[in-house]
Amino acid sequence: MRPVFKETVWGGKRLHDDFGYDIMSNHIGECWAVSAHPDGEGSVDGGTYDGIRLSELWKTHPELFGNPQGDRFPLLTKIIDANADLSIQVHPDDTYAAEHENGSLGKTECWYVIDCVPGATIIIGHNAKTREELREMIENGRWNELIREIPIKKGDFFQINPGTVHAIKAGTLILESQQSSDITYRLYDYDRLQNGKKRELHIEKSLDVIEVPFVERRAEPAETDSWLKQLYACSCYKIWKGDLKGEATLRQNEPFMIGSVISGEAFLDGVGYNKGDHFIIPYKHPDIHMTGEAEFVFSAPQYNNKGFGK
Ligand code: ZN
Repeated sequence: MRPVFKETVWGGKRLHDDFGYDIMSNHIGECWAVSAHPDGEGSVDGGTYDGIRLSELWKTHPELFGNPQGDRFPLLTKIIDANADLSIQVHPDDTYAAEHENGSLGKTECWYVIDCVPGATIIIGHNAKTREELREMIENGRWNELIREIPIKKGDFFQINPGTVHAIKAGTLILESQQSSDITYRLYDYDRLQNGKKRELHIEKSLDVIEVPFVERRAEPAETDSWLKQLYACSCYKIWKGDLKGEATLRQNEPFMIGSVISGEAFLDGVGYNKGDHFIIPYKHPDIHMTGEAEFVFSAPQYNNKGFGK
């Protein structure tokens, strides 16, 4: 797949320097690696469908995606380079987004930490016990008491359900797998100024959707000797980490799979893939013979009768 890049105030240079993407700006925050979202849509890079936009492929070749009933490609894979702190934010679920955001999907997302600086942290969750306390703490700017900040390290995985207060902080490189949605409610932006102004906040919508109290959802990867470990499964997607050392077989039993090479290089049925390459393995693809030394993150959708979620 051919990615799309996004310039952001908090973005840095690592997508160029570490991943070798051919981008010029010093503030590229996001690589939308596999995306059919209208805010940044990718296309096929090479082969039979070269140059075709992913949304077009989804409409014209449903057989590649397990013959879905949904009206849109359900997932979005990004690499995020946080050179500065991102705003503290929350996303709605499908029901709230459909009603308040012109039929958009909600946003469930998850993070695999590709790399981070020593002492890096992220924000997940909050310490308010009731909705009244949450409102009071927000209105009085008691951010240090409200926000739950935790240390992270390379290889950590975090599930961010809709309604979860969260923020990626400076010095962190993340692979994000998410629903195909661009709906974010900004709760707090550290009172930063951009061109002399604070960025817009969405306090009332945030208060509508934040889960109170916060419930931590951690999942330990299944114990397995396989090179491929499932990290998480929710109603929207399944996620795996792959550590290829030498030779392996990839069996594709999902409607489709998204794959991202996050380090090293590998051959898949003889075709070379390097760090920073992203691909889709279609429905009913035969087993893939893999060789090389590489780390992967894979995702697959969970369908319901609307084509997303379950
Ligand atoms: Zn988010």
